[in-house]
Amino acid sequence: MGNSERIWDHVDARREAYLELSDRIWGMPEIAYTEFRSSAEHKAMLEAEGFAITEEVAGIPTAIMGEAGEGGPIIAFLGEYDALPGLSQEAGIAEPKPLEGNGYGHGCGHNMLGSAALLAATALKNYLAETGQPGRVRYYGCPAEEGGAAKAFMVRAGAFADVDAAITWHPASLTRVDEALSLANTRLDFTFTGRASHAAAAPHLGRSALDAVELMNVGVNYMREHMPSSARIHYAMIDAGGVAPNVVQGRAVVRYAVRALDIHGMRALNERVIKIAKGAAMMTETEVSVRVLSAVSNLLGNTPLEEAMHANMERLGPVEFDATDRAYAEAIQATLSDEDIVSDYRRVGLSPETFEALCDFIVPLDQIGEPMIGSTDVGDVSWAVPTVQARVATHAIGTPGHSWQITAQGKSGPAHKGLVWAAKTMAGTAVDLLADPALLDKAKADHQKRVTKTPYVCPIPAEVNPPIQPRPANG
Ligand SMILES: [Zn+2]
Repeated sequence: MGNSERIWDHVDARREAYLELSDRIWGMPEIAYTEFRSSAEHKAMLEAEGFAITEEVAGIPTAIMGEAGEGGPIIAFLGEYDALPGLSQEAGIAEPKPLEGNGYGHGCGHNMLGSAALLAATALKNYLAETGQPGRVRYYGCPAEEGGAAKAFMVRAGAFADVDAAITWHPASLTRVDEALSLANTRLDFTFTGRASHAAAAPHLGRSALDAVELMNVGVNYMREHMPSSARIHYAMIDAGGVAPNVVQGRAVVRYAVRALDIHGMRALNERVIKIAKGAAMMTETEVSVRVLSAVSNLLGNTPLEEAMHANMERLGPVEFDATDRAYAEAIQATLSDEDIVSDYRRVGLSPETFEALCDFIVPLDQIGEPMIGSTDVGDVSWAVPTVQARVATHAIGTPGHSWQITAQGKSGPAHKGLVWAAKTMAGTAVDLLADPALLDKAKADHQKRVTKTPYVCPIPAEVNPPIQPRPANG
C-alpha cells in the first residue's frame, strides 16, 4: 500500500498548520453568509499552499475555491466553516459556560470540517506534484451549511459542473462512511396579513393574523398522521404580531421547515402545507403569502465510492485516542443521559453491553442502523457529481449534535486526531480514484443510474437567491 502511506505522509507533513487553522476558526464563530473572517483564513491558507483561487463562487462573497494540478480528473474536497447561534462555549471544559451570552459557537464542528478538507486537498496537491501524476484537485470553501443551503446555490450556478467526484466528511461520535440518508428540506415563511383593531372596543373590525398562524399550525399538526413517517415538519414563530394582547394582530409570520425522503416527496408535502395555510387564511379572512428561503436535496449514495472510502478507513485503522482524550470524553459523557449514548450506538445498529467514551473502531460498511435523519446541502452536490462523505470520531460518544458539548470539544485532542484522520481518509480515497480510472468509471455509472431514475430538479425556486450579507467595513 505504498500510495496510501505516501499520501498519509503528505497529510502529516502539514498537520500542525491545519490544527492551528481549525482552532483559529473555532475562535471566530460566524454564522450563515457572514463568514468573512473564516473564509479569509481559508483563502490565505490556499494562497500560502500555492492553489489558484476563485473568489465569490456563485456570487457568494464567503464562498471560495482553490485549484491545483494539471490534466486528468477533477477531485473536489468540500469544506465548511459556519457556526451556530446560541452555542458560544468555553473550550476544554465539561460544563456549560458561554464565552459570550447567547453568542455564536462551533456547535457542529465545522471549524474542523473545513480545515481537514483543505488539509486533504493540500496533501493531494503535494502528492500529485511529487509523483507527476495527472489530476486536478479542488477545495471548495462552502459557507452557510446551517440553514443557508449555499451548496445548493453553488450547484445551481454550475460550480461543480466539471467535477468528476466530490469527497467530504463531518465530525461525529462514531467513525464510518456516511450512510447517505439525509432528508430533502425546504424552509418557507408564511406571512399572514389581517387587520389590526382594539381587541376589546372593536374586536369585530379586526382580522387576526395570529389566529391564522395558530389555525395553520393546528391544520399541519392534524396532517402529521397522514404523511410519510419519514417526513419531518417543524415551525417557529418569527413574528407573533406584537406584544399587546389588546391589539388584534394585523401581521404574523411563521417559518416552516418541511423535510421528506427525497425532493419529489418534499415538493408534494410543501403543496399540502401551502393548502393548509390558504385554508387558515380563508377561515380568518386574512391574506397569506409564501416565500421559499432555501432548500436542499436528499443525499445520494455512491456504492463504489463508499467501498473505496471504507477500504481506506480499514487500511488506516481506527482513530487512536490516548488516556487524556478518554478522560475528557468521560467527563463530557457525565453530562449526558444513558439514552443519549444508547441512541448514538443504535443509530448505526449497535447495542453494546458497555459504553466506550470514544470510538476506537470503524462501523462496518453494511451495518443497518436506525438513522436519525437530518438534512445537509451536500445533498445537492451528490445529485450533481458522485459524492462520498465520511463521519469521523472527534467527540465523546453520545454527544448531541448542535450542543455546547460539541463546541467545548472543538479544540480537544480527539478533535485534532479526528481531523487529521479524516484528511487521510479523504485524500487516500482521492488517490485511489486517480490511480484507478475503472473505479472512477464505476462511480460515475452508479451516479448515472441513480439520477436517471428521478432526475435532479433544483429544490430552490429560480427567483430565490442566496441571502448574502454585506461585508463589514472592517472585514
Ligand atoms: Zn454540520
